Amino acid sequence: MERIHDMIVIGGGPAGYTAALYAARAGLDVVIIEKMSAGGQMAVTDTIDNYSGFDAGVAGWDLGM
Ligand SMILES: Cc1cc2nc3c(=O)[nH]c(=O)nc-3n(C[C@H](O)[C@H](O)[C@H](O)COP(=O)(O)OP(=O)(O)OC[C@H]3O[C@@H](n4cnc5c(N)ncnc54)[C@H](O)[C@@H]3O)c2cc1C
Repeated sequence: MERIHDMIVIGGGPAGYTAALYAARAGLDVVIIEKMSAGGQMAVTDTIDNYSGFDAGVAGWDLGM
């Protein structure tokens, strides 16, 4: 079945997520295409430090989800 989207974001890392989030908030029908796993590089990282809202760090996979 054919479906027309307003916007397609290539890559599901932080940059892609942010672009898709803002597009959705603006009312666009947006889809993300990711070739690896949700979260991008952070998904293959044990612990993410210096990320707003997580003063003790957060597991990369958890943040990606
Ligand atoms: C080991 C490691 C530790 C890190 N630790 C920290 C940390 O502690 N704190 C911190 O702030 N940052 C950390 N970083 C950096 C952080 O992960 C990156 O700055 C961030 O992920 C960049 O986000 P991005 O969306 O620009 O790119 P990426 O995360 O690289 O996302 C790009 C996505 O695009 C996908 N993609 C590419 N080409 C295609 C295609 N043709 N079709 C479909 N999908 C495609 C990729 O699979 C990927 O998921 C770390 C990085 C690594 C590798």
